[in-house]
Amino acid sequence: MFDFSRLPVIDNHTHPYLFEPDPVRYRPLDSFVGAEFAGADGAAVRDTMLYQRWATRELAAYLGCEPTPGAVAQARAAVGDEAAYVARLFASEGIEALLVDTGYPQPPVDMAEFRRRVPTKILPVYRIEPPIKTLLDERVGYDDFVRRFDAGLRRAITEEGFVAVKSIIAYRTGLEIDPGQAGEEAGRRGLERALAEPDRMAASKPLRDHLLLRTLRLCRDLGVSFHVHTGVGDKDIVLAKCNPALLNETLRRPEYAATRVVLIHCYPYLAEASWMAAALPNVWIDLSEGVPFALAATDRIFETALDLAPTSRILFGTDAFTGPEHTWLGARLAKRALARVMTRLWERGYITETEGIEIAAAILSGNARAMHGL
Ligand SMILES: [Zn+2]
Repeated sequence: MFDFSRLPVIDNHTHPYLFEPDPVRYRPLDSFVGAEFAGADGAAVRDTMLYQRWATRELAAYLGCEPTPGAVAQARAAVGDEAAYVARLFASEGIEALLVDTGYPQPPVDMAEFRRRVPTKILPVYRIEPPIKTLLDERVGYDDFVRRFDAGLRRAITEEGFVAVKSIIAYRTGLEIDPGQAGEEAGRRGLERALAEPDRMAASKPLRDHLLLRTLRLCRDLGVSFHVHTGVGDKDIVLAKCNPALLNETLRRPEYAATRVVLIHCYPYLAEASWMAAALPNVWIDLSEGVPFALAATDRIFETALDLAPTSRILFGTDAFTGPEHTWLGARLAKRALARVMTRLWERGYITETEGIEIAAAILSGNARAMHGL
């Protein structure tokens, strides 16, 4: 049996958060789903979800308290020096760096404060939807729109320290991108349509497709990766249009082949994503959100990702969004699951012992380290 507990970890997908002491309910016990389960009754429903049960026990053991949500909340609220606590927590799992999508929450978390409280290497990711919303709200003309859109993205990468770009078009008009919207005339018509019906999301689809294609080219020119949300998410996801397979038509085109695209989450469409990472020269897959929140699927997520994808194209992530414990919990879960998965592959004679260690190390941090030159 492999033991990966001491391997270093880079979390490929997280969000900024500020620690909010709440002696009644500690939010990292909650997954991203179940937002409508607010109040005492809602918490009771949440507590029957597998992730919540498991997270409560793991955190209780770490904090030295009773394994109940109330006891964990109290113990966490009493921690004191937040930065020292996070440093200890991350050191215990070898967590070395976080990629941080600053587009959620809105309004944005103050990054200087976040960095003070989370003393690890922070790699910010620039999301394109907040500037799109600003430019649509201001009803600027097309030439101004794309000039400011392009300049904002370029500045983020060249001057503001962002290391990658992100889109959540799957929450807006879906992943079925029309490659025919790439030209400037198409973009101009798309903006007119979006401005004609500002309250109907579907009217902005041609414009959003145009801007996604534009971003693919900008990322290629700037030499940074483009993170695209795929798979399920919060309840406002366009559920019928979030399968990463819908991106295949666009990503296989020669003009986008030199852009490094990271399919974020992929869950539950891991098989399609694994094939895309194998079939296309420009695709990586990130396993966040499924890990850790789809707790019972963890082994299956790693196994399915490994169906076809080159092991150099698979990235560990968690989608931590309310606290450092999501990354810690995800790292523990991933290390144990990978040990079981690699052991099964080794027992069947599919990999050697050395390969098992190399593959786990690559998924947990090596592939992200190579991508960002860390
Ligand atoms: Zn996320």
